[in-house]
Amino acid sequence: MVKKVLAQLIPLAFGSIIFSVLLHYFNVSYIVGGLFGVAVQFAGFYAFRSCLNAYVALQNKKLENERMKELSYQGLGVTCPCFKAVREFVPIKLNAPNYYKCSECKKVIGVYITPETALVTEPQESSLEAVNSILAKGLIGLPKEQ
Ligand SMILES: [Zn+2]
Repeated sequence: MVKKVLAQLIPLAFGSIIFSVLLHYFNVSYIVGGLFGVAVQFAGFYAFRSCLNAYVALQNKKLENERMKELSYQGLGVTCPCFKAVREFVPIKLNAPNYYKCSECKKVIGVYITPETALVTEPQESSLEAVNSILAKGLIGLPKEQ
């Protein structure tokens, strides 16, 4: 406790001494210069602290926005199996069971995700330019007229 107070008072006193010596060159007494130095240091610290708080609040808001954006990527629009069939957006975790409470029937609803597989096909080239380049290479011939 005493060390903390001394650790804060020593730089304050040192800064005040510097202010008082500098202001003494302008015919200001040491005491007034020292008091002015203390006031300037407190004002500077308050301004620094205010800017730091504003910066931290801004960064926290950015992180929260990113988190909300990530959450929107990891959610699904699901329909409750109750007779009201309420559709809601639910956050989904892939490594844990997913549950949510329906806003209408107030029942706990489980969300089950079943993986499905499908063959990925590539689109055929259908543009005229692509067909012309294949014709120019001689890979396919033009249909013969009869
Ligand atoms: Zn429901």
